[in-house]
Amino acid sequence: QTQKQVRQAQFKLVLLGESAVGKSSIVQRFVKNSFDEFRESTIGAAFLTQSIKLTGDDLGESLAPAEEGFDDGLIVKFEIWDTAGQERYRSLASMYYRNAQAAVVVYDITQSESLEKAKYWIKELQKQASSSILITLVGNKLDLKEERQVSEESARSFANELGLLYFEVSAKSGENVQELFKQIALKMPFKA
Ligand code: GDP
Repeated sequence: QTQKQVRQAQFKLVLLGESAVGKSSIVQRFVKNSFDEFRESTIGAAFLTQSIKLTGDDLGESLAPAEEGFDDGLIVKFEIWDTAGQERYRSLASMYYRNAQAAVVVYDITQSESLEKAKYWIKELQKQASSSILITLVGNKLDLKEERQVSEESARSFANELGLLYFEVSAKSGENVQELFKQIALKMPFKA
């Protein structure tokens, strides 16, 4: 039995949000499946890639049927730009999101002020990024539920009103992190 080839696609994803909300930790969980309590802050921007495989069942009708000799799945490669949230890097961030196909805007569910920052970034994206960019609002630190300052309902309804995807995750426990990236991948308009 010959090994079937798998179709591939890649896209650029940028992470935005206030510093210390856990952007780098989410990427580290996704890419290395690890968490580091004392990691150093990202300066400027960091670039990482990670691929996931979507199966034919995941994809349903969203992709044309595979040609002869090809697997019915799709390998999706994320090119992830993790930007520093500090004010002084704001203009740098715009360089990254200008030609990104997806943006993940992160806030910390235990810091309501970080949701206000996220709202700022969403406005920026809607003004400056491609009009077809897929924006996902992510509430991180779900493991600290007892300390939450933002209710899931209020954040989710805000995201719904703007037509954004919404996820709550924990980079620390890993809860929902794979699912977040899988659902983003499934929403990308791949042509195959
Ligand atoms: P960034 O500046 O947005 O990239 O944030 P970091 O990834 O550097 O994380 C900032 C701090 O929050 C670090 O001390 C992390 O260990 C911590 N942190 C990140 N994600 C989580 C999480 O899901 N739960 C908890 N409890 N702490 C987290």
